[in-house]
Amino acid sequence: MSRDTVRVRFAPSPTGYLHVGGLRTALYNYLFAKKNGGAFVLRIEDTDRSRYVEGAVENLIDALRWAGLDYDEGPGKEGGVGPYLQSERLEIYNERVAQLIEDGKAYRCFCTPERLDEVRKKAQAEGGQPKYDKHCLALSEEEANAKLDAGEQCVVRLNVPEGETISFEDRVRGTVSFSSDTLDDQVLIKSDGYPTYHLANVVDDRLMGITHVIRGEEWLSSTPKHVLLYQYLGWDVPEFAHLPLLLNPDRSKLSKRQGDVAVEDYRAKGYLPEALVNFVALLGWTAGDDREFYELEELVEAFTLERVNKAGAVFNVEKLDWLNEEHLKKQSPEALLPAVRAAYEASDIKNKSASDDYLVKIIPLMLERVTFPSEIATTAPYFFDAPTEYDEKGVKKRWKDDAAENTRALADAYEKLDAPTKDDYERVLREVAEKKDLGAGRFIHPARLAATGVPGGPGLFDVLELLGKGEVVARLRAAAERLG
Ligand code: GLU
Repeated sequence: MSRDTVRVRFAPSPTGYLHVGGLRTALYNYLFAKKNGGAFVLRIEDTDRSRYVEGAVENLIDALRWAGLDYDEGPGKEGGVGPYLQSERLEIYNERVAQLIEDGKAYRCFCTPERLDEVRKKAQAEGGQPKYDKHCLALSEEEANAKLDAGEQCVVRLNVPEGETISFEDRVRGTVSFSSDTLDDQVLIKSDGYPTYHLANVVDDRLMGITHVIRGEEWLSSTPKHVLLYQYLGWDVPEFAHLPLLLNPDRSKLSKRQGDVAVEDYRAKGYLPEALVNFVALLGWTAGDDREFYELEELVEAFTLERVNKAGAVFNVEKLDWLNEEHLKKQSPEALLPAVRAAYEASDIKNKSASDDYLVKIIPLMLERVTFPSEIATTAPYFFDAPTEYDEKGVKKRWKDDAAENTRALADAYEKLDAPTKDDYERVLREVAEKKDLGAGRFIHPARLAATGVPGGPGLFDVLELLGKGEVVARLRAAAERLG
């Protein structure tokens, strides 16, 4: 595998849902791969068996597919460096760990949880870091083997050197340095035989030919351990880029308590994948101008790691709503039909006989006026049911003394038309107004109230055309009767 070709990965742990922060990580990796003609790999980091969630991998893949972030290699898409599930790679990790133990870079530790607790407490009481005291490093191979033969439980730890500085370059943060004294002798293999994240992550990034590790800032403090592992295994380090934290509007770390964090939640609420992707793209990145609306291909074109910010990015749902409205306007009525129909069927609108054809005609009229496709039918129930009430303020303002008489005159004129179009409705209204020497508004506003029950909405004549002549005439007459 050539190291000149960009290869990046999204490496989620299958927790049961895709976090919006995870979506952003996946997106930035995807954008970087596409921009550089590279490969975007999906690797599932499922070595924490205590957190195993049934169906989680399928959920993740489904959420990525919904968002439009197709991976080039991963589960179900062999690329020659699989398997892509860490739980299927245990032998690979064991081989590397055996090498590390042999080289004195890692060691078996048989300390009991009780002893580890004591060590931690003692270190804390002395004002130091709660670190492991390397007690088992002194065990000879024979001693360790004897303990293993006796059935004692053990873990394998990384042998972190003392008094060294570990540095690496980060594409977002520049040079980052840690003192090795702040690092614990990290567990690499747990007592259940599974590797920890740190070991599996490094081994896989190397063996999968990953050139750039792009991930959330929460992993920055793990990176010196990874760098050490690369060195111990005789491997070059990949490039790193740590993405800024996601924050609630009060600048605390983005949490469930202040709103939804699962991509699935936003999907269920009716956000468009295009909008959510556009939104998370802007959480920590800008092209350097004030542009905010992007389609995915435009993001690929514009994205660079150099323009990723260090500072935390505030998760602002109002912006997401705005982007949803903007992306909604670009959708075809046919694409929105299923969501519109589902919301219509579930609504308390009484007339449920609308055809797909009818719904498809309503969609463009309402698109500018809603945030979610599901609101298209429900904010305009008058497309289905005749109004049973008339907006009080609208009536006060628009239903003048001559409104009933004018509306009846309009109904009479409309009744004579044969399959009128919206232009016919408009022309005839203007003719009737002219004949009475009145402004068109004296007819338009009452007609809107009569037809819809509300003072605002899409173009009146569009609405009338959709309702059809019989319904229009009946509604005009009913309002004249009711409002007098
Ligand atoms: N499994 C880690 C996670 O769940 C991956 C972190 C990384 O990308 O290195 O986020």
